[in-house]
Amino acid sequence: MSNNEYEVVVIGGGAMGLATAFHLNKRKVKTLVLEQFTFKNQLGSSAGVSRQFRIPYPDAYMVQMALDSEPYWDELQTYTDKKLLEKVGTLWFGDPTVHSTEGNIAEAEKALQELNVPYESLTCEEIESRFHFKNLPKEYTGLFQKDGASIDFRATIQTLYDLALKSEHVTLEEEAPVTDIKEVENGFQITTPNGVSYAKKIVLTPGPYMNSATNLLGFDVKATYWNMSSAYFKKTDPDIQYPTWFVFQNAEGENGNQFYGFPEVDWDHPGYIRTAPDFVINPLKEPNGRTLIPNEQELAYTSQWVENHMTGMDPKPYYTSTCLVALSSIPNKELIIDFAPAYVPHHKDVVIYATGWAAKFTPFLGKILADLAMYGKTDFDITPFQLGQNYFREYKQLQLTKQYEQ
Ligand SMILES: Cc1cc2nc3c(=O)[nH]c(=O)nc-3n(C[C@H](O)[C@H](O)[C@H](O)COP(=O)(O)OP(=O)(O)OC[C@H]3O[C@@H](n4cnc5c(N)ncnc54)[C@H](O)[C@@H]3O)c2cc1C
Repeated sequence: MSNNEYEVVVIGGGAMGLATAFHLNKRKVKTLVLEQFTFKNQLGSSAGVSRQFRIPYPDAYMVQMALDSEPYWDELQTYTDKKLLEKVGTLWFGDPTVHSTEGNIAEAEKALQELNVPYESLTCEEIESRFHFKNLPKEYTGLFQKDGASIDFRATIQTLYDLALKSEHVTLEEEAPVTDIKEVENGFQITTPNGVSYAKKIVLTPGPYMNSATNLLGFDVKATYWNMSSAYFKKTDPDIQYPTWFVFQNAEGENGNQFYGFPEVDWDHPGYIRTAPDFVINPLKEPNGRTLIPNEQELAYTSQWVENHMTGMDPKPYYTSTCLVALSSIPNKELIIDFAPAYVPHHKDVVIYATGWAAKFTPFLGKILADLAMYGKTDFDITPFQLGQNYFREYKQLQLTKQYEQ
């Protein structure tokens, strides 16, 4: 293979692209990762520091995926001294009839039971007395699952990045936006402003910018984009510790009224606790509508929640941040893991991951994507995540066909 020829080119160097490279490296596969910005950038979905690892999901296949991810986290942990998962448990509470983009409490209980995952059911009094919340409506219920964790996502990405840098099989290239993909004999020609490279297989992990990459192959993914706000609140009682938590509540006007939070950890603003809204007041149609300034109203609703319902915290947001996430607008397809649709030449050689809350699956998803690229299949059942022809919308397919004929 000459210098610019690769077995696999990964497009998108966020958490998932780097996790894919990690597994391709283990198989000694010559891999190029192309990143349009810099690695570890703050402009995609992996921005910020902490994420939740949780097992409760309303669908058993998602619970299974979280369980299956655990050994891959253990494996990644062996490559760093930083603790990647701070296991403080997952607390879900609120109105058991409410459904959110995260799921629903009652359905999650059923799915946990189906897979024999241990958890505790909680009353409102227990949630308040054990976990420091206050003034909750008496009809609220909850569940606590002990294996939930706060993920040090920054350390996770750094670990994957360092391993890729050291690897003799993986090449990392930043400031390299992919602007063209053409079918050539035996694979693809991939163009960036820095030149062309060739690949037998492509893995697309472009995060919220996915359509900028999939459009080059003639299709796009239906999604909405959330420019999400987060805030850090100062602990006034040093002895109080929270688990990772999520509250399910009905929206009140523009206040989506769903919030989530983290424990205090020494790797993310020690002395402060991150609490964030799990809604946005103005979803975006395109990722380029994003801003790095958090929505003030969303922050105000979050402060109000902290003041009304959390103890030992100053309700003023001290630090804030934003992060852009793409959420699939196709019912029951939180994550999309698939090959390109059949009308894309060599479609089985193009693997895609897009949308959803996937940080918790990072090292496992990297393995799945590497398997699909190398063997065209993986042991894990990805059928719930596959779209097939029906959902991928064709985008300028005629133009693409013409381009191939040139
Ligand atoms: C506020 C917030 C909270 C979240 N909380 C959780 C949580 O608690 N638990 C959980 O499991 N998940 C959570 N998520 C989701 C999780 O963070 C994402 O699923 C994950 O970070 C996605 O990683 P990625 O690598 O797919 O995308 P990204 O990190 O966005 O990486 C994609 C990369 O591709 C690059 N790229 C795009 N197009 C091109 C191109 N044409 N050429 C070259 N490069 C390109 C981009 O620049 C980007 O760096 C949260 C997300 C947000 C925003």
